[in-house]
Amino acid sequence: MLQQTPVARVLPQWQAWLERWPTPGALAAVPPGEAVRAWNRLGYPRRALWLHACAVAITEQHGGKVPRDVDALLALPGIGPYTARAVAVFAYGVRAPVVDTNVRRVLARAVDGQAEPGPPSAVRDLAAMSAVLPVDDAEARVFNAGAMELGALVCTARAPLCGDCPLASACAWRIAGYPSYDGPRRAVQKKYEGSDRHVRGLIMRELRAAHVPVTDAEVAALWPDEVQLARSLAGLVADGLAVRDGTGYVLP
Ligand code: SF4
Repeated sequence: MLQQTPVARVLPQWQAWLERWPTPGALAAVPPGEAVRAWNRLGYPRRALWLHACAVAITEQHGGKVPRDVDALLALPGIGPYTARAVAVFAYGVRAPVVDTNVRRVLARAVDGQAEPGPPSAVRDLAAMSAVLPVDDAEARVFNAGAMELGALVCTARAPLCGDCPLASACAWRIAGYPSYDGPRRAVQKKYEGSDRHVRGLIMRELRAAHVPVTDAEVAALWPDEVQLARSLAGLVADGLAVRDGTGYVLP
C-alpha cells in the first residue's frame, strides 16, 4: 500500500483492511474484485490484485503463514526486492539488506559522496547496503531500521540536517563539501490530469461503485476522447482489473 503512496493516506485504509481481512486466508477467501473495491482511491489498483494473489499463494502454498525466507517471499505475486527483505528483516529478524528510497539517499551521500543516488538498481543497491550491514542479525535489523529513519527524518532530500546527524563526521558528501549531483536523473513522472492513469481511475471509480455491470454507454460517458477511453479500458481488461460481463464491465 505504501508503494508511491504517503503514509497518511494509507493508514486508515490499512487499518480498515486488516480489520476486515486479518489473515492471508481471510483475504484469499473473497473474490479479487472485493480487494479492488476496498482499495478505494489509493491509486495503482493493480496492487490490490497482487495483494489478493499474494494472499491466495500464501494460503495455498504456505499454509496461510507468511514465509520468512527471502527467496520464498520473492516468489510470491507482487513481492519485489524491497518488500521481501522488509518482511524477512522486520517480521522475522532475518539478516538481509533493506533498501528503500531513503536508504538509497543515505548511502549515496554518506558512503559514495554524491548528493543523490543514481537511478534505482536492485543489484547495485542491495550490494551497497550489504557492504555496510553489521554481521550480527539483531544489529543488522536495527541498522536497517536506523538507515531508513535517518533518510526519512534527518538526511532528507531537500534539506539534510547534518548538524543533528550521527554520521556527520564520517559522511563522504559532507567531507567533500557537498558537491552537486551531475549523474543520470530518474525519469520525471508524467502529469496525472488528462493522462491514461486519470482515465483508468475514472473507470475504476465507476466499477467500484457499481454492483451490477457498468454498461458500454456508461463507460462512454466518462471521458470525451474515445480513443484514449478505449485504450485505458483495454489496459484495465489486460491487467485483470475489469472483466467483460454481458453488455458491460465488472470488477474481477
Ligand atoms: S551528514 Fe548530512 S548529508 Fe551526510 S548522511 Fe548525515 S544528514 Fe546526510
